[in-house]
Amino acid sequence: MSDNETFYPGPSRIHLAAFPPKERWDDWTELDSRAWPRRKERHYSLVPTTCFNCESACGLLAYIDKVTGEVQKFEGNPEHPGSRGRNCAKGPATLNQVTDPDRILYPLKRLGKRGDGKWQRTSWDEALNTIAARIRKAIVEERRDEVMYHVGRPGEDGFTERILAAWGIDGHNSHTNICSSGSREGYQLWMGLDRPSPDHANAKVILLISAHLESGHYFNPHAQRVIDGKANGAKLIVFDTRLSSTATHADYWIAPYPGSEAAILLAIANYLIQNNLYNSEFVETWWNWREYVAQPSTFTLDFKEEPPSFSDFEDILKELYGEYTFEFASKESGVEAKVIKEIAEVVATAGTRFSSHNWRSVSSGVSGGWSVARCLFFINALLGAVATEGGVFPNAWNKFVPRPIYTPPHPKMWNETTWPREYPLSMNEMSFLLPHLLKDGRTKLDTYFTRVYNPVWTNPDGFSWIEMLTDPDLVGCYVALTPTWNETAYYADYVLPMGVGSERHDIHSYETHDSQWLGFRQPVLKALKHREGTNINDTREVNPGEVWEENEFWLELTWRIDPDGSLGIRQFAESKKNPGTRLGVDEYYEWIFDNSVPGLPEKAAAENLTPLQFMRRYGAFEVKNKIGKIYEEVVGREELEDARVDEFGRVFTRAAKPAGPNIVPLPLPDGDDEGRRLVGIKFGDTIKRGFPTPSGRLEFFSKTLNDWGWPEYAIPSYFKSHVHPDNLEPDQTILISTFRLAVQIHTRSANSKWLDEIAHTNPLWIHPSHADKLNVITGDLLRVETEIGYYVVPAWVTEGIRPGIVACSHHMGRWKLSDEGQRQLMATVKLDRNGTQWGLKRERGIEPYESTDADTQRIWWKDAGVHQNMTFPVHPDPISGMHCWHQAVRVRRAEPADEPGDIFVDTEKSREVFKKWLALTRPADKYSPDRTRRPYWMLRPLKPAREYYKLPE
Ligand code: SF4
Repeated sequence: MSDNETFYPGPSRIHLAAFPPKERWDDWTELDSRAWPRRKERHYSLVPTTCFNCESACGLLAYIDKVTGEVQKFEGNPEHPGSRGRNCAKGPATLNQVTDPDRILYPLKRLGKRGDGKWQRTSWDEALNTIAARIRKAIVEERRDEVMYHVGRPGEDGFTERILAAWGIDGHNSHTNICSSGSREGYQLWMGLDRPSPDHANAKVILLISAHLESGHYFNPHAQRVIDGKANGAKLIVFDTRLSSTATHADYWIAPYPGSEAAILLAIANYLIQNNLYNSEFVETWWNWREYVAQPSTFTLDFKEEPPSFSDFEDILKELYGEYTFEFASKESGVEAKVIKEIAEVVATAGTRFSSHNWRSVSSGVSGGWSVARCLFFINALLGAVATEGGVFPNAWNKFVPRPIYTPPHPKMWNETTWPREYPLSMNEMSFLLPHLLKDGRTKLDTYFTRVYNPVWTNPDGFSWIEMLTDPDLVGCYVALTPTWNETAYYADYVLPMGVGSERHDIHSYETHDSQWLGFRQPVLKALKHREGTNINDTREVNPGEVWEENEFWLELTWRIDPDGSLGIRQFAESKKNPGTRLGVDEYYEWIFDNSVPGLPEKAAAENLTPLQFMRRYGAFEVKNKIGKIYEEVVGREELEDARVDEFGRVFTRAAKPAGPNIVPLPLPDGDDEGRRLVGIKFGDTIKRGFPTPSGRLEFFSKTLNDWGWPEYAIPSYFKSHVHPDNLEPDQTILISTFRLAVQIHTRSANSKWLDEIAHTNPLWIHPSHADKLNVITGDLLRVETEIGYYVVPAWVTEGIRPGIVACSHHMGRWKLSDEGQRQLMATVKLDRNGTQWGLKRERGIEPYESTDADTQRIWWKDAGVHQNMTFPVHPDPISGMHCWHQAVRVRRAEPADEPGDIFVDTEKSREVFKKWLALTRPADKYSPDRTRRPYWMLRPLKPAREYYKLPE
């Protein structure tokens, strides 16, 4: 390596582990391993893109062979600020997805009845024209609520929401309520933003309630920073009922009774409160305690002053949380009181360097799971470890979302199917209830898209989804946009092949650390052609078969819905450079990089590149490092116009929000009826930015919960979940069904051969003491009985699980109905139906097969695991809307005729469970304080125009 070349230190910080210097990305030389012992050189062009195999969006470098023109491998992109050149196993396995011999290469149209499994090849033109005509008709006939787009992995921030807004429909549906709504609700209640951004690398103490995190979500960018933190001396505390890979790295691992985590967190908080170990200056300044003490309430303590002082509030705090002793937490959790005390003492040493994270895990497992995230952030709020070095930031401060070329107006409608009035405080669409809401006759769907989403397999209650999809009265046309075969796509009318991470465009930014960066996912073969001076207008020219990319697909579909522009839709898909022609993705990204990424044009110019060329060459750009405390930012005079200040110091202005990036979107609080927006909090002569909550401060007290029918949960609290021992029958136990395998990718890894070889089964984790009682050993078959049916699974006896609790990874049990489909991890099964009773039985496991890839002949595994989600009914949390995944189950030895993977379900029972949980809600009709459907300040994808928040009279 020469002195003029960039040195990217690898993990071991020595040259041998370094990444290729960027100066040699046009011609990188490696020896061909297959030619050994000859020293045969191979030359590569290195082209960046972004991994699409989880949300972390790590950088990848495609090594494109200069002779064959094919991608030889994917490795890390050292220019990417989030992943810093590192990847997990799933990143390099992108190559398996590209070369998958069973992938879908051409648009397909159904033959016969839905689910018959018969297909014919069709053209993109035919598919686009048919779908566009349906959507146009639905729009013109004012049936706009019958068009729905249901997304799994979103990719680019807001792209498809803007397409739907251009169509004027409120048709966005996400997977979030089977994923992360629980955590999101807890964080949003505190800080107005729904995700935490922990600064693990600079923390003194790290507390994680999210094995999921380091084994699937923000896996690599966070995991590497947790390890950096540990290397710097941080203590790592992990709460997980199961010994996760994260827990194996912990200084303190506790395995609480599932659902008791909030009790432990409140005991830690109580220790800080009773011993005055919290940051009282921060609490006094940034909590909305004044609003709390101003409420008419049932305080048993007399206030010393009127209005009550902070000292009064501190006394109240001591009284409120005094009951959360270590002994109480121990009784609820089964963790020894002295261990909890020791952890509390460690937490107390962190000061403002306390990083914490709760994502999925228990917050997605139990009713009221959102309170776990809320009680965890309570500790950060007590310590003042908010937006500090080593603390936790609101996600939007560590994320960069640039302004797009067009911003269509908010849709003028409210979709009752995705945002039913029973769930006014849900974090996201009530997506997993769709079959039940349609069966109830609330609406029907004319055109239904799924996009990188497989609800039959991923969601609970999959047989109800099959019933919905096979009923043409409920779903008129179902279009599956997917790179691979999946269980839901078998019931589609159109299966349209979409590109994997190296075959499509997206931009994205995530809260990996205290920084703002922008990553660029791009079709690498197209990017190389650009580098060589050839323009490619359509990714189908370089992708395998007729695989397309979604952004081009959506722009083209939008164009065809409104070909003459008479509906006002076409304008949002039109080129600015060449009016009258369709906007292309090059112009789309060129506009963004030229106009709304501060610093990028200058940085690109320094290398004689345009901003788009820069992003094509390096794949990422760091907009700003070290964001710090945005809440302390002083609001400038230009933002004040006809301002007024209320009794809590909130400042409201008539000045419009300044445009541009890095402006934190403070909401307009309810009740500000004069059209002013909240701009900050007044301290003496200074106005500070504050937090995007209705109070402008961190909300210890949620006026929203208080006013919308849930006053008992207005402050952080612990309550008994649906799987609390008081709610179980004596012979029931808890099944933890949410954990991931670190090397699988939801429904997209069925043919990632390297990953499948590592992990291809999901036995039931069971403690030896529990196994002894059932008289089973590893490999014996068990029946796991849920409320609506059962599944059959082999036991895996392990001490890595709390005694009496069982666990099964959701990453397995892929199936297909015929040989059509991915053959490396999908078993062939037979479905039997008798009325509402369904059975699934495996006919053939995984076998070697002949294909274009010689490795498929070397397949040695047979198992594909069990599809347990099929046997779970829906459990919508009445506040967050989160599906509560943990199941109260009976586990017993299998029957003699049972075979691994067997499933039985009665969907009539799943209807009953749905109705039981629906009855727990407090609907907006009855509880809304202002006759709106939802508090306007709460986050919502694709917000409708404000007037559509009003409930109909
Ligand atoms: S953590 Fe792994 S799967 Fe996720 S984006 Fe990074 S490399 Fe891909």
